[in-house]
Amino acid sequence: MSFQVAIDGPAGAGKSTVAKAVAKELEFVYVDTGAMYRAIGLNCLNKGVDIHDEEAVLALLDDTDVSIRYIDKEQAVILNGENVNGKIRTQEVGEAASVVSAYKLVREKMVALQQELAVTTDVVMDGRDIASCVLPNAQVKIYLDASVEVRAKRRYLELIEKGKEADLKTVEDEVRERDYRDMHRENSPLVRVPEAILVDSSYMTIDEVVEEIVSKVRNYEHE
Ligand code: C5P
Repeated sequence: MSFQVAIDGPAGAGKSTVAKAVAKELEFVYVDTGAMYRAIGLNCLNKGVDIHDEEAVLALLDDTDVSIRYIDKEQAVILNGENVNGKIRTQEVGEAASVVSAYKLVREKMVALQQELAVTTDVVMDGRDIASCVLPNAQVKIYLDASVEVRAKRRYLELIEKGKEADLKTVEDEVRERDYRDMHRENSPLVRVPEAILVDSSYMTIDEVVEEIVSKVRNYEHE
């Protein structure tokens, strides 16, 4: 059986940076599930489909092919034959992903794809519902959290660094709104399963968080 590490948590807790580094250290494959929902969101924006119109989103989904490929060990999301990695990291696509990922059929399609990836391959998978739904038998489950203020500050600094205009208070409101939507939706809300190890990254460096998770996996393997 494959070895599965599930990392869940809210937006901005550092999941993808951490999960990528943990996968590299362990020589596991990193699966970024948020990128798949982002591809679905991007597709709606490209095709002019109203993301709040569930029926229209589902109709488009029927015509949508999402798959994952590994190019130089990096995950590439392929949307209808096109590698969309360079297009899914915007705030707008993130918001669209958060809305369309609430639809049950969108989740079913993505979860099936994610589970397939983890059957025979050792994976580090990050998202919102990995421990609770996608990989309920994962050997190591992590809930990576950080305070709203710290997450908003990180996002704000990222925007400033990219030369964008940003207002800390607005960013903080957006973070709260996304948290609320991800935690209160009917289908697979973000939850911390009881057996997940809580790691609060608010005042830890990335290296410290990575080290903590890697050591949990190594200790598990030696038990
Ligand atoms: O993690 P990331 O910001 O890329 O995720 C984008 C959005 O996709 C999240 O806000 C969340 O609503 C959704 N998502 C999800 N389930 C996952 C991963 C992401 O619903 N496993």
